Amino acid sequence: MAILVLGGAGYIGSHTVYELIDAGRDVVVADNLLTGFRAAVHPKARFYLADIRDRQAMDRIFESEQIEGVIHFAASSQVGESMQDPLKYYDNNLGGTTVLLQSMVAHGVDKIVFSSTAATYGEPERIPILETDRTAPTNCYGETKLAMEKMMGWTSRAHGLRYVALRYFNACGAHPSGCIGEAHAPETHLIPLILQVPAGKRQEISVFGDDYPTHDGTCIRDYIHVTDLAQAHILALDYLLAGGESNVFNLGNGVGFTVQEVIQVAREVTGHPIPTRICPRRAGDPAQLVASAEKARSVLGWKPRYDDLKTIVATAWAWHKAHPNGFAE
Ligand code: UDP
Repeated sequence: MAILVLGGAGYIGSHTVYELIDAGRDVVVADNLLTGFRAAVHPKARFYLADIRDRQAMDRIFESEQIEGVIHFAASSQVGESMQDPLKYYDNNLGGTTVLLQSMVAHGVDKIVFSSTAATYGEPERIPILETDRTAPTNCYGETKLAMEKMMGWTSRAHGLRYVALRYFNACGAHPSGCIGEAHAPETHLIPLILQVPAGKRQEISVFGDDYPTHDGTCIRDYIHVTDLAQAHILALDYLLAGGESNVFNLGNGVGFTVQEVIQVAREVTGHPIPTRICPRRAGDPAQLVASAEKARSVLGWKPRYDDLKTIVATAWAWHKAHPNGFAE
């Protein structure tokens, strides 16, 4: 039996495929390659060029492969873009997941682990955030992810499908071997943008707001290594395969860093001064997002290995230094 990874050519998907194959699992990847890269797909995975909004393509995969569970990363994931083009997010994230679930139900595939996000919480009621805290997204990306969780919930009631929603905090870093890493076009995430400065591709890093109610005025986030996220997906799938009930878990280190602190760590890792420019706040950004991941630790037995930001940034730097053009070369 194989695991189907949707969006397995993307950043977190490709790292999860590497971990699955290292663990000896049989893996099928489907990706439309709109934002993912064929070169990011592990050579031992069977690859289908397919869009989750395409019912025939989904049916074909479930008919040709013996799928025991699905890990679903195939979604649009940029906060800023979701505010400018919300319907793209409804179409890809909700439309796509609707078709996927219809096809899964039709083929009796009843276990799914999928990417949710800390953006489902919006402005948090307290720090660290628990899974039971209020969900009130402040951007359309978070809104569609919360709606995906609810869609899974209703489908679960009606059809007995079981799901795990993993609410990631800030994914970062790269595979320790340096063979795959983060590559978005355009890049919008803090750590890869900071590293473009020492890589000679950017003069300075913009700091979006220095008037937040935090100790240095810049936003606080919980940065979690992509390999640790990948491991959590495998644990979540095994939890469902062992009969676990539908569930939601936060994934973070439980420690927050300001934008300025992340820049300082990058200076130490790269030996470059990395100049900054203070800019206005970015729409939809909460001041602070820090996870309590106690539930994932206790229920799934998850233990992040990369709990040190310097090591995390060093893995990202190794990837960006060796692949200045991402997967394009
Ligand atoms: N950020 C910034 N400058 C940039 C990109 C991001 O100051 O060029 C800030 C952003 O406002 C947020 C934090 O860095 O507070 C992390 O942003 P990112 O886009 O990496 O992840 P998000 O928190 O939106 O998921």
